[in-house]
Amino acid sequence: MKRNNVIVVGAGPTGLVTALGLAQAGVDVTVLESEPAIVNSPRAVVYHWAVLDGLDRVGILCDAIRVGFTNPELCIIVPKTGERIRLSMSALAGDVTHPYQVHLGQDKLAGIILEHLLRFPHARVQWSSRVVGLSQDGAGVTLRTDTPGGPVELDAGWVVGADGGHSTVRQLLGLSMDGMTWPERFVATNIRYDFAKYGYAAANVVIDAPYGAIVARIDHTGLWRCTYCEDDSLPEETILERMPAYFSVALPGSKDYELVQYSPYRMHQRCAERMRAGRVVLAGDAAHITNPTGGLGLTSGLYDAYVLYEALAAVIHGEVGEDVLDRYSDERRRAFLEHASPEASNFKRMVYHAKSDAELEAQLAGFRDAARDQSLQRLIFLTAKKLETPSLVRGRPAA
Ligand SMILES: Cc1cc2nc3c(=O)[nH]c(=O)nc-3n(C[C@H](O)[C@H](O)[C@H](O)COP(=O)(O)OP(=O)(O)OC[C@H]3O[C@@H](n4cnc5c(N)ncnc54)[C@H](O)[C@@H]3O)c2cc1C
Repeated sequence: MKRNNVIVVGAGPTGLVTALGLAQAGVDVTVLESEPAIVNSPRAVVYHWAVLDGLDRVGILCDAIRVGFTNPELCIIVPKTGERIRLSMSALAGDVTHPYQVHLGQDKLAGIILEHLLRFPHARVQWSSRVVGLSQDGAGVTLRTDTPGGPVELDAGWVVGADGGHSTVRQLLGLSMDGMTWPERFVATNIRYDFAKYGYAAANVVIDAPYGAIVARIDHTGLWRCTYCEDDSLPEETILERMPAYFSVALPGSKDYELVQYSPYRMHQRCAERMRAGRVVLAGDAAHITNPTGGLGLTSGLYDAYVLYEALAAVIHGEVGEDVLDRYSDERRRAFLEHASPEASNFKRMVYHAKSDAELEAQLAGFRDAARDQSLQRLIFLTAKKLETPSLVRGRPAA
């Protein structure tokens, strides 16, 4: 018998937005998450203006802004020249509905999506359910899971693998993750420190090899994210021993900071060879993974989710043919490979690795010009929209 339900693997923001969009379209959806609750590691904080329309469409933007806050400003800080170059998304006012970014911890965003999802009687989340096996035929997919009560098998018409960079679903499908791994690791820290006192904006890019950083305010309690970079060959176990030396140089004034949380991350630019295999579709970090400089990781995942839930619901409702999912795979891979990955790579090189003064000057010239010219600022901020795939369903005759 043909099944119409969907199982989404992974209760990260990509999986939860996909599940919410499907539930809103009347699709029966189950989310399987290996952990007992939403993962609380220090990752995304800043959500670009360009993804906010999509959060609005699924009805969670107001809550995200209420729990977090909006910020139109980006400050480029260059310790070497003493410059603070301020750019504002107000340059987009009149063109876009939300000319600002939203700041809040990724776990808080996921919590909001979850709350909205669980309002639907045909949506559910099963925690502590780790997917370990997958088989499929023309009618559906069977997933095998490890749960505290023992192994459980579940059937679905369709499966969305949104289980992050180490995706089990992708591995079970035998899909390669092509690309490269950087020789550096990022150390993401959540710290209490009064950056505002030293003229920092809510979002800052500190361009300074080797002491570059992305510094962003997380909430209203004085908690900030500072992400820096170190050689991946240094032992991970001694990060905490090296951290004070980094902050003794990188902090702008007093060296008195409180470390609240930290986590190291290996960094990659990688994309799955395909994002669809039969009745299984990949989304988010499970499909493509980038270093986070510039905040294009979850931006890409959310753009996957926005087109995927609509396309998959249309397939299930018999409004379009399954080939729409191949176009999803092609278009989302293209957006990542042509825009997200090269832009994040360039951004990382600029922030952390400028090799010479000439190189730095060339990079800064564009920002200095933009600070004086609203139309150039507008162009800089509009680049995030290149990662988007327009609806694959609307405007197309039903199959
Ligand atoms: C330091 C840092 C800062 C970042 N900052 C930003 C930013 O500001 N803006 C931005 O856009 N992006 C940012 N990113 C990227 C962003 O965090 C990721 O792109 C995002 O987490 C991807 O979401 P996801 O839902 O696809 O995957 P994940 O968030 O990784 O979620 C996957 C989920 O699947 C679960 N899972 C895994 N395996 C299984 C299994 N076998 N069975 C069931 N469940 C499973 C996991 O437990 C997890 O909950 C940052 C990343 C880092 C490391």
